[in-house]
Amino acid sequence: MFCINQRSIKKEILIKGIGLHSGQPVNLRLIPAKSNEGINFVKEGKVIPAVIDYATGFEFSTTLSKGNVKISTIEHLMSALFFTGIDNIYIEIDAEEVPILDGSAIKFVEKIKKAGIEILGEEKMYAVLSKEVVVYENGKFIKGKPSNTFTATYHAQYNNRIIGNRKYTYSNLKADFENVAKARTYCFLEEVEMLQKMGLAKGGSLDNAVVFEGDSVLNPEGLRFDDEPVKHKVLDLIGDLYLLGYPLIGDVYSYKGGHKLNAAFVRKIIDEKAFDIKCSSQIGIRNFGRLVA
Ligand SMILES: [Zn+2]
Repeated sequence: MFCINQRSIKKEILIKGIGLHSGQPVNLRLIPAKSNEGINFVKEGKVIPAVIDYATGFEFSTTLSKGNVKISTIEHLMSALFFTGIDNIYIEIDAEEVPILDGSAIKFVEKIKKAGIEILGEEKMYAVLSKEVVVYENGKFIKGKPSNTFTATYHAQYNNRIIGNRKYTYSNLKADFENVAKARTYCFLEEVEMLQKMGLAKGGSLDNAVVFEGDSVLNPEGLRFDDEPVKHKVLDLIGDLYLLGYPLIGDVYSYKGGHKLNAAFVRKIIDEKAFDIKCSSQIGIRNFGRLVA
């Protein structure tokens, strides 16, 4: 019987950067872990598992906390771990926010590939959606349906010529994760002042975010893809879905959702026991797609 084993990294990875919202310098140390240890953040000696029970903040990013220890903007790193198939890792951090790097997940993916993937002894486990789950909020919704594989669709509807009314679907079967991993976070110039008044986006610049002014892009290099913003929304969705503690098998459709709705969706899947934990051999070879080598 074919099966896929759990993964970690072969050796430690050091990453330096700044927080998008805090503007503070931050050092991240990714440390190999054993089978079934899961994804855990470590700060000030406290271990915070990267699961929905510890997710506490959803304003413009996803935050984990335990007691008074907080770690925010975890979603791009979480999606990089999903794309590289990492099930077990420790992420030691010396500040409140994961570094933003270039605003996408691709730098994390590249560092993990360079360090190498360690195949562990135990079989990889998946959360297989067993019934339809829907969450709504102010005309936005996320709907999950049982499937043989994993797809994540984002449907954006902005009154903006570039973002406009667009959809993008990531599928395990297409194995096109780089298209999603490279998509950068974005904001509107009009929002920047408001965000900064709220104490957010202090580390934001054209090096780590796409900035729109009306219908034009202020970054001199332009967009990486025509539909980079909607692809970034897929990236955020995938990162937040990984707070289930397992990669999901199911079709997920988000209409204008954000971090808060993503978290509510994950919470509902767990509260309604709408999933079964299955190992890879129970799912079938073609359905989890190609993982990063
Ligand atoms: Zn994001």
